[in-house]
Amino acid sequence: MPKVRKIPQRTCVACGRARPKRELVRAVRTPAGEIKVDLTGKVSGRGAYVCPEPECVERGLREGRLQHALEIPIPESAMDELRRAVELAAAGRR
Ligand SMILES: [Zn+2]
Repeated sequence: MPKVRKIPQRTCVACGRARPKRELVRAVRTPAGEIKVDLTGKVSGRGAYVCPEPECVERGLREGRLQHALEIPIPESAMDELRRAVELAAAGRR
């Protein structure tokens, strides 16, 4: 019997869909209180996940779901970083 490898799943804070962790874009609140986009999945801190879809990022930010999940206001610069990361992720799939 082959071993069944369990793929870690995370839920998008905007649409609530569960997807494999590595497909999602992770935003992290670092212990220093900064918001970072974590493309490696290794940054420590409180994380929130969104689909690599501009709609999900916009919805997550507009409805305050990312802010709520990270328990901190998200500065404009971090919002831009998040949007760029998602655009790149979306472009990479084409
Ligand atoms: Zn989503």
